[in-house]
Parts: sequence; structure tokens; C-alpha cells
Amino acid sequence: MSVHNGSIKIGISACLLGQPVRYNGGHKASELCRDVLSRYFDFVPICPEKAIGLSTPRQPIRLVSHPEGPRAVGTVDLSLDVSESLTNLGKQTAEELDDICGYILMQKSPSCGMERVKVYRDNGQPADPVGRGLFAAALMQARPDLPVEEDGRLNDPVLRENFITRVFVYAEWQKLVKAGMSRHGLIRFHERYKYLLMATARKQYKQLGQLVAQCGVVALSTVAAQYFSQLMAALKQPANRGTHTNVLQHLSGYLKHVLSSEDKQELQELIQQYRKGVVPLVSPLTLLKHHFRRHPDAYIARQAYLQPHPETLGLRNAL
Ligand code: SF4
Repeated sequence: MSVHNGSIKIGISACLLGQPVRYNGGHKASELCRDVLSRYFDFVPICPEKAIGLSTPRQPIRLVSHPEGPRAVGTVDLSLDVSESLTNLGKQTAEELDDICGYILMQKSPSCGMERVKVYRDNGQPADPVGRGLFAAALMQARPDLPVEEDGRLNDPVLRENFITRVFVYAEWQKLVKAGMSRHGLIRFHERYKYLLMATARKQYKQLGQLVAQCGVVALSTVAAQYFSQLMAALKQPANRGTHTNVLQHLSGYLKHVLSSEDKQELQELIQQYRKGVVPLVSPLTLLKHHFRRHPDAYIARQAYLQPHPETLGLRNAL
């Protein structure tokens, strides 16, 4: 059952949801995707190899090097070449699924792999694993702003939190676009992401602010498109303890006139404990939110940083 009010759609390699679509009739069910994330998102499962008409079970395919880029061919029947079909499906999916806000791919696959996919040389030996699955490559080229991750990388708490954050940012932007973009809406959106950007890409926050300021001079649609691409690129940089600590300090500054010296000291100690790795990010954040509930600040209340994704996902417990 979904625990998220809206319905945020995410594309996903079908085998990660437990569908028996792999070449050997098996699956690669991901507990995180199937049992946890599926309660928060509407997954749109696609198996590209099935979708282009290959059967299950089937001979595996693999990437082989080629002057025009790697090709996906059969491992038994070398004349089987599904490169065009996979590439076309990637482009078609990017166009048709225009309402998805992210994509989770199965790693190492010649169709779905996002990075480090083996590409075989003419002598049959694998080259350094530097390829990208052909479906994934076409999808990512057609939708460069879309948050995309591999299931394996989502086991890393930092990358997981970063990906889910980007999905929610993407969804909020889509909502803004749907409601009708305005200069005011863009300025408010940028304000809302100030501290999230400070935690990931402080320099880009300023650059994006300068871009937003061009609204009166340059067409709003042009500024908005550039803004969103740059924002999504900036948010790919994961935040770390140092940058989070910096943001926590800034946020605590809003409370300096309303907290007692004991409360201030307690908050500072907790922030320092987080910086040293003694407690997770959720600890100082919970205390900060507690104080902001007692001493509300309209500007801080709008900040996405305090609640970029549902608390029940517990993503900040592991940071
Ligand atoms: S990795 Fe992609 S192509 Fe392979 S079984 Fe999973 S969904 Fe299908």
C-alpha cells in the first residue's frame, strides 16, 4: 500500500521487482525496491529485452566493441544483433513515459546497465567494464535531467538519499510546470532549495540565483529550462558531513535570538557530534525541527532541506 499522497512514477528494470524476465527465467528482486520504495512510488516496470520481442528463457546477449559504439549481440547466435531495437526502445520510453520522475536500472546488464558494463573485444576477451547498456544509454541521452540510478549503488546510504531527494525535486518541478510557470513561482522554488543546494553545491546556488535574476531580460521558458538542467546536475553531487554541518549551523542561526543558552549549547553539541560521526544527521535535524515548531519562521518552514522526502523512509538515519 502506498504511503505517499501523490503518485510519483519511477521507471524500473522489471527484474528488480521480482518479475521472472531474465535470460534464464529468473529475476533479481531488490528488497529495497520491491518491499520499501514500492510503498512510496508507483513503479513502471519494463524489461527492454522482453519488450523488443526476445523470449524467456533466451540466449544471453552481450556488448561487443564496434567503431560506431558497442553493439548488443547474441552470445550463441552471433548474428543476433538487437542494438537498434534496444536503442529505439530507450528513445521511445523516454518520450512515452514523460511523467516519470526517476529510473532505477539493473546493473551490469548490456541493456539496462548504467555504467561499468562489460564490452567484449573481437578476441572474445572483455575490455575494461566501461560500457553502458544500450536501452539505458538511449534513455539517459534523451532525458538528461532525469534522476537515474542503479540498484547496486542504492545500497550506499549517501547515494540512496541523494537519488530519492532528486526524484522528489524532479516531481515538484513537474508540478510547478504543470501549474504554469511564472517568474514568482521560479523565485519561490529557488528559495525553497537554498539549503539543499548549500549542502550539495554551494557555488551553483549562487549561479542559479543569477540565472533566475535574468528572468526579466531573457524569456522565462529559456531561463526555466536552463535552471532546471543546472539544478538537477548540481544536486547529483552528494552532500557530506562537512556540508551538512555548515547548513545545520546556518539554520541554527535563525534561532539565536529565541533559544536559551542551554538550548543553544545542546544544539551546538549535537551538531558537533554529527560532524564527528557520533550521531546520524537525523539527530540534530530532529532537534532543529523541534525548536522551529516552537519558534516558527516562515522562510525556514518553506525549506526543502528540512523535509526533502518522507521521514518514514528513514533515509537520514543512515547519513
Ligand atoms: S536487466 Fe533489464 S533486460 Fe535484463 S532482465 Fe532485467 S529488466 Fe530485462
